[in-house]
Amino acid sequence: MFIQRLNLKPLLLVVSIFSSLAIFNIMALKSYVTDARNVHSNAIKKVSTALPLVAITFDDGPDPVITPQVLAILKEKNAKATFFMLGKHAEAYPELVQQIHAAGHEIGNHTYSHQRLTRLSQDGLKAELQHTETILFNITGANPRLVRPPDNAYNAKIVAQTQQCGYHFVLWSIDTRDWANVSPSAILRETDKAGAGDIILFHDGVTPSHIVEGLAKTIDLLQAKGYRLVTVSELMQGSN
Ligand SMILES: [Zn+2]
Repeated sequence: MFIQRLNLKPLLLVVSIFSSLAIFNIMALKSYVTDARNVHSNAIKKVSTALPLVAITFDDGPDPVITPQVLAILKEKNAKATFFMLGKHAEAYPELVQQIHAAGHEIGNHTYSHQRLTRLSQDGLKAELQHTETILFNITGANPRLVRPPDNAYNAKIVAQTQQCGYHFVLWSIDTRDWANVSPSAILRETDKAGAGDIILFHDGVTPSHIVEGLAKTIDLLQAKGYRLVTVSELMQGSN
């Protein structure tokens, strides 16, 4: 996956101002395990918790083929998850958004049209987030409070800007690589590494995919180890 590498020193002053303005948000984030790169220290990769909790997340949906199968598995196995949706897909499939919300899963913002945030102006970034917020609010009556950057493209300034918009900036600690159409056993090899506080990345916007079988086996494995599958916000509430 693409990782942005920029000289961020000129941005540090801006970020420190943003940070001081968002001090409550940052205090709330202090106990999370965050990105090891200092300039990205407020991007959440996993959560430090003593509780047996793991968060499964899905990007790029909802999708009319994959998402209903994912919802059926989550319901059957009594697991909760978080869906980082594209606004344009939420707009196209509002019934799926409503089903996800009604089932008690969490919905996060993945921008309207999968734009790399590093390529947008500050106004452009806000427009992408707010457009998606409006769509999701009109369907569910709730605003998303989590954002995940498309293509893992971000920097310290972007993290700060999204926090100014009221978001927690959420990455992941385990990548199933399901987007590369890997086998269910390859997915399971990655998810078998999960421990308390980990955030697992799946995609429900990619077809064809082995996500359905890989997801079912992942949930069976983690539940057999005593883990409870919760939303990212529930995971954050369980932090030390
Ligand atoms: Zn994506």
